[in-house]
Amino acid sequence: MKVLVLGGTAEARQLVEALGDVATLSLAGVTRKPLSGPHRVGGFGGAEGLAAFLRREGFDGIIDATHPFAAQMSRNAFDAATALGVPLLRLERPAWLKAPAWREVEDLAAAAKALPAGARVFLTVGSLSLDTFAARGGIWCLTRSIEPPTQPPPHGEVVLQRPPFSVQNELELMVRHKITHLVSKNAGGEATRAKLEAAAQSGVQVIMVKRPRLPEVLTVETVVEAVKWVENLGE
Ligand code: NAP
Repeated sequence: MKVLVLGGTAEARQLVEALGDVATLSLAGVTRKPLSGPHRVGGFGGAEGLAAFLRREGFDGIIDATHPFAAQMSRNAFDAATALGVPLLRLERPAWLKAPAWREVEDLAAAAKALPAGARVFLTVGSLSLDTFAARGGIWCLTRSIEPPTQPPPHGEVVLQRPPFSVQNELELMVRHKITHLVSKNAGGEATRAKLEAAAQSGVQVIMVKRPRLPEVLTVETVVEAVKWVENLGE
């Protein structure tokens, strides 16, 4: 039994640990010092490349445990799995429940548009999603990411931090930088939830980017359920 786990999340790491030798973890190569154990790195070359890799290596199943916003990889996994008839499971943590005070937007471009001139923004969308905000004039951004941004960051300051974050850490950043707006993707999970609590406590307006729509596939929310799925694959 061989399962390919598409990663880039803490859940993918936990899943691979739980599965042991059965699993191969694949990372895009965005984070230079990932916390993961053994893994392969880099793109496959689209859905066709992934299908060729799956066939060559003889995988019996794929688990898409990428970040909920890694939409391209999820589509490629769907296309490759469908083309080959290889079972596919998505492991996806639940989205954060909408709070009444949030302003929800469809995508990053809409988030950039929603910011008023003069806004002091805590930008927590990751190092790969900064260009729309850099192109937007009239705002100041505290840009936070794990890795130094590879693209020019928006006007303001960059802070490099790795989750999990505490409410105290988030409050301190928001107060020190006189933040008026928080821009976040609806990533879900506990590791980065504290910023929402801190924003609520300090009157910071939350602009929340909704999750992209992905192909409909069998989806579980926990590592335990994903392990069960793999056990059933062998039967
Ligand atoms: P994406 O837009 O969906 O994917 C872009 C390309 O990167 C894919 O077409 C694929 O290249 C390659 N790729 C992505 N994930 C891969 C994986 N696990 N293994 C091998 N190749 C992968 O993804 P993204 O938004 O750039 O995210 C990149 C990675 O960072 C993902 O692993 C994701 O889980 C993680 N991440 C993303 C976010 C986010 O907000 N987007 C946040 C936290 C972590 P080919 O087409 O050449 O195969």
